[in-house]
Amino acid sequence: MTKKIFRSIIVVSVLVLFSSFVIATGFLYNYFNNSEKERLKEELKLVSQNVEKIGVGYFDNFESSIFRFTLINSDGTVLYDSRADAAAQMENHSDREEIKEAFSLGFGSSTRYSETLTKKTIYEAVLLNDGTVLRISADQLTVGALVIAMLPAICLIIFVCVLVTMLLSYNMANSIVKPLNNLDLEKPVLDSQYDELTPVFTKLNKQHRQIEKQLSEIRKNAEEFAQITSSMQEGLVILDKKGVVISINPAAKMIFSTDDSHIGKDFLTVDRSLCMSRAVETALSGSHTEFREERGGKEYQFIINCTRSEGEVSGVVILCIDVSETAFAEQSRREFTANVSHELKTPLQAIIGSAELLESGLAKHEDRQKFVSNIKKEATRLVTLINDIIRLSQLDESYGEKAEDVDLCGVCAEVITELREIAAKRSITFEFSAPDSLVIGGVRQYLYQIVYNLCDNAVRYNKDGGEVKVSLEKREDEITLSVADSGVGIAAEHQGRIFERFWRVDKSHSKETGGTGLGLSIVKHAVLFHNGKIKVQSEPGVGTTFTVTLPLKK
Ligand code: ADP
Repeated sequence: MTKKIFRSIIVVSVLVLFSSFVIATGFLYNYFNNSEKERLKEELKLVSQNVEKIGVGYFDNFESSIFRFTLINSDGTVLYDSRADAAAQMENHSDREEIKEAFSLGFGSSTRYSETLTKKTIYEAVLLNDGTVLRISADQLTVGALVIAMLPAICLIIFVCVLVTMLLSYNMANSIVKPLNNLDLEKPVLDSQYDELTPVFTKLNKQHRQIEKQLSEIRKNAEEFAQITSSMQEGLVILDKKGVVISINPAAKMIFSTDDSHIGKDFLTVDRSLCMSRAVETALSGSHTEFREERGGKEYQFIINCTRSEGEVSGVVILCIDVSETAFAEQSRREFTANVSHELKTPLQAIIGSAELLESGLAKHEDRQKFVSNIKKEATRLVTLINDIIRLSQLDESYGEKAEDVDLCGVCAEVITELREIAAKRSITFEFSAPDSLVIGGVRQYLYQIVYNLCDNAVRYNKDGGEVKVSLEKREDEITLSVADSGVGIAAEHQGRIFERFWRVDKSHSKETGGTGLGLSIVKHAVLFHNGKIKVQSEPGVGTTFTVTLPLKK
């Protein structure tokens, strides 16, 4: 602003100076021109009176360095010229304008310019009584020549004026701008030294208050936004229309293993996945994209959308949802369905095969009994399998099952009684140690499933003549059930997988012994249902011990 004021003052001053100079020169030149003409007329009048009195002899002693006098005869020949030595040799003057005028009107005047236009000659002429014409003339500089002659002085004046103007305008510009620079924008109206600016400052003040209000609203919204996004479990990234990160919430920072240093940088610096960059590009072109990808060992669903402002794409929002559990559940469900179908198909095919042989009459009479028992065995297996699936799905769906007081000693004794006969066939003995009564809060059916499946496995995977030790112990507010056998044991690499559905170490042995591959899954679910824990310790060839810890109150 200072510069602009400074420049304006200088330009105005130079223009004023120049125009004043032109106007003054014009006026002065005109004034001196007219004065000169008057002076010529006066001089001519004086000399003409003397010439009329004395005649041409008057010029004998006449001398004038300023004016030139010429006496012209009535035929135009020059009788006398104060500057020419041989007047008679001068050319005829009858065609000169001022001479013609004087002969016809008594007085004549004219002005003629030199060839170079630097000079002009003013002529005044008068008709004398004897019929001759007396002419006076004087040389004068033209305006242009005058200006050229005055040029050094003009330049000096302009230089001094510009210098003074610069100094003054610099000070003036500073003094004008200083109050504006020192203005307190919080209260511009009160502070202003310029009344003319009061309307502007009033408006400024109003806008200032409006901006303050809007800023505080923006700040409030930003804080709310930060609070909401920071407590979100989903990752949220906001990009501008160039794909530059504007905001990234804590969850997203974890997902992309990044920090705030990437704010203001291209999203490519945060994530370089091909799918993601394509999705961001698609969103920037106004479309919606969703895809699943793994980050840091977890599966995420990425939802990428564009944001719009006045119909134009103004940015991109990336929402990252952890779907690891859903993906795992989906995967497990798919596997479970495939496994169930397979497990059900095998006994059914065996039943159909035996039934077809019996129906066709191809089976020998002595083999018929074998096929019938086969059908019975496979059907029983089918029932056991379906029962296990039902139990498992009951446990999966179990919600708000009513807990009751269950005597775990009674449950163990019941199971042992049920399995003792089967165990005895293979000379397997049961040993049971427990207090007289041990009451626990839980669902009896599920507790029974825990004890039964563990003891059933302990018998089935035992050696002939082996033993099963069942013990119950009460410790402060929990109960420990341990089922130990002297069976085949489980290799360390399989121990982590035995609780998976349909997972068996030795499939054929499991099937032979009537296993479904679901027993331990049911146990695990039932234990979890009672907020308990299960542990396995096993050594191949020596035996296996399952230890279940259950809290007394569910
Ligand atoms: P299954 O019906 O096949 O017994 P489970 O879920 O009960 O299915 O057990 C899964 C697998 O764990 C079994 O196939 C078996 O290989 C192994 N297993 C379970 N209990 C024992 C045990 N007491 N001793 C040895 N292996 C066992």
